[in-house]
Amino acid sequence: MISRRAAALPPSSTATLDAHVKKLVADGADVINLTGGELDFPTPDVACRGGIRAIEDGFTRYTAVAGIAPLRQAIANRLSDKWDCGYDGDDVIVTNGAKQALANVFSVLLDPGDEVVLQAPHWVSFPHMIAVAGGVPVVVETGPDTGYKLDPGTVAERITPHTKVLLLNSPSNPTGVVYDSAELTALARLAADHDLLIVSDEIYSDLVYAGPEFTSVAALGTDAWSRTITVGGFSKTFAMTGWRIGFAAGPQPVIAAMTALQGHTSSAPSSISQRAALSVLHDEPVAELKQRKAELDRRRSLACAGVADLPGLELAVEPRGAFFALVDVSGAYGRQHDGVEIKDAATFAERLLHEVNVAVMPGADFGAPDHIRISYAVSGEDITEAFHRIRGFLSR
Ligand code: PLP
Repeated sequence: MISRRAAALPPSSTATLDAHVKKLVADGADVINLTGGELDFPTPDVACRGGIRAIEDGFTRYTAVAGIAPLRQAIANRLSDKWDCGYDGDDVIVTNGAKQALANVFSVLLDPGDEVVLQAPHWVSFPHMIAVAGGVPVVVETGPDTGYKLDPGTVAERITPHTKVLLLNSPSNPTGVVYDSAELTALARLAADHDLLIVSDEIYSDLVYAGPEFTSVAALGTDAWSRTITVGGFSKTFAMTGWRIGFAAGPQPVIAAMTALQGHTSSAPSSISQRAALSVLHDEPVAELKQRKAELDRRRSLACAGVADLPGLELAVEPRGAFFALVDVSGAYGRQHDGVEIKDAATFAERLLHEVNVAVMPGADFGAPDHIRISYAVSGEDITEAFHRIRGFLSR
């Protein structure tokens, strides 16, 4: 009944586990949920009021497929001002979250068999989005030797005549790694040498806490600018996951093709959400965002210290951006828990949830089979209590 393409597609493991844990919590279980990909902060008031005003004004109809012009321009201006990217409104399409921007960008760029080079560990959805679009994900393993970053020499070895796109994600989900400008410049040069397009998922660009400042690939010069499609969104920066507003910015033929695709599939995202997004850009709550970032940084320190205190477990790499930490749990392999042997990150996560009510994401679907991903976008108290419970679990 189901096409081969769809049959090969598992549900998103992060969304599935998060939904399961939320149900446990709703049913009254005392679970600490470290699986989520969203902030626990409310959407800023200015955005909410923008959405309410849109409803009151009757701004409730279809909008232009690529999004309302003032929002496209405001996104272009923010990218240009903040990350020095030189975009105009016509270079931007507004989408139903960054997810739709990514799915659509792969659909319009890839012919069957075209290859996309990306790194592991990677966000769970990347390989599936590429495959659904008819492309082939070519996953380059990274590890401690390169600080969990792509090494241009290793990437070069994986480039074939079919390679069309280099996919980058800095700050990274799930490692929290942030590439510096020199590292991105070397990768952009490689892309230029092999005439590759770059898709740069920069959805966590506003959440960098330590180390070098964030660099946008499109800001690296005219060549990088002309071959890069930058993807971003409002979900993480503005705690607006449910509003579903993302965007892509890049060469106009790509934006035009994405607009054609969006016009035949979903149309523009919600008119109300677009107005909310426009309001938050027009009157950005800078002080509030700064304070939230400082709080996330504090939680990052708590999480890193918590991991350092766990016997046998260690951070893959110090997270410097986004709100995740990737933790190597192979040191716990061989332990027996209620007759079950911990033999991989999945059994570790399953036992942890079952025995001490702490939910974490097993790393297999991130291309990190010996790791778990911990989200520190929860309260400091929850982080402290979660690590207390994990220590108890490991001392059993
Ligand atoms: N890209 C990465 C790396 C993510 O982690 C996420 C969400 O978890 C997204 C894109 C999608 O964000 P949204 O569709 O909510 O804008």
